Amino acid sequence: PAFLEVQNLVKSFGTNTVVKGVNFAFDKGEFISLLGPSGCGKTTILRMIAGFERPTSGAIRVDGEDITHLKPNQRKLGMVFQAYALFPNMTVGENIAFGLKIAGMPADQRRARVDEMLKLIGLPGFEKRYPYEMSGGQQQRVALARAIAPKPRLLLLDEPLSALDAKIRVSLREEIRAIQRDLGITTVFVTHDQEEAMSISDRIVVMNAGNIEQLGAAHDIYNRPETRFVATFVGQLNTLPTGVIPGISGERAIRPELISLAPRPETDLTLTGIIADLHFLGSVQRLRVDVGGTLINIDTFNNQTAPLHRGDTVTLHLAQKDLLILGA
Ligand code: ADP
Ligand code: MG
Repeated sequence: PAFLEVQNLVKSFGTNTVVKGVNFAFDKGEFISLLGPSGCGKTTILRMIAGFERPTSGAIRVDGEDITHLKPNQRKLGMVFQAYALFPNMTVGENIAFGLKIAGMPADQRRARVDEMLKLIGLPGFEKRYPYEMSGGQQQRVALARAIAPKPRLLLLDEPLSALDAKIRVSLREEIRAIQRDLGITTVFVTHDQEEAMSISDRIVVMNAGNIEQLGAAHDIYNRPETRFVATFVGQLNTLPTGVIPGISGERAIRPELISLAPRPETDLTLTGIIADLHFLGSVQRLRVDVGGTLINIDTFNNQTAPLHRGDTVTLHLAQKDLLILGA
């Protein structure tokens, strides 16, 4: 039986329907991402699960219990927002203990739990600090500790990393994932960043304009996108109009990293083009190659024996099996 179940969930603001009948079911302990562009309804879904927003119709169940009409504080959920959500006038310890105090936990137990949480997030001894004395990444770890301290049944994270610097964003997402695995807590993570979603999720819900486009594990979504939207939103993609590949009619698409400058055992097609542009990214070199007027992006590992230059003629090697046919 599913642990988190959302059934025909609809939300309208006036005449504007922003969540259009969403269904999903997840198991206990899963790390789920809601992925999609800004405005597609991710936060609205999370807020309905949390109880801050009333669904127009539909149902939400956790562990078999219908929570659709419960008040937020009756749902036993933990939530972390984008940024700056700690109580600024409270210490770290008081922030983390906040939910425990409301739940009526005695002071000595609260202290023990705060210590345990601080160790878990790698900030032991920080209980007397104030939020303004800490970096954004440290504050978000405290926000996570505050959310999980009362042992919620579900953890809801709304773009908790998006205000942080790139390097911290990557290390903190790995930390969040490790803590989540450790605790086995079912988690819904909202992001518009496809790489972030792919790197940490068990399964991803790809959303567009209030609808689910595809639901699956990262490798399914990346390798077998079911819609044009998913194919282009998740990862880079070249679209090849009819005529680019001799003998194939109809549009095809292919990922940049599946095109190489040297043959591979699986390659069975070649295209000749001229390097129109090239970007050296360190480990990878990104080329834009003009093939009869169609520009094709390719990523090659930086293991070229001779440097490449704009204007060079190159042969591209690809495999028919890697060509995608994009649906609607
Ligand atoms: P996302 O989190 O994917 O960026 P949201 O769920 O925040 O998207 O918003 C989805 C749509 O619903 C947007 O068009 C937004 O303007 C609209 N919306 C969200 N909250 C409200 C509200 N309280 N009143 C009216 N429109 C809203
Ligand atoms: Mg949002």
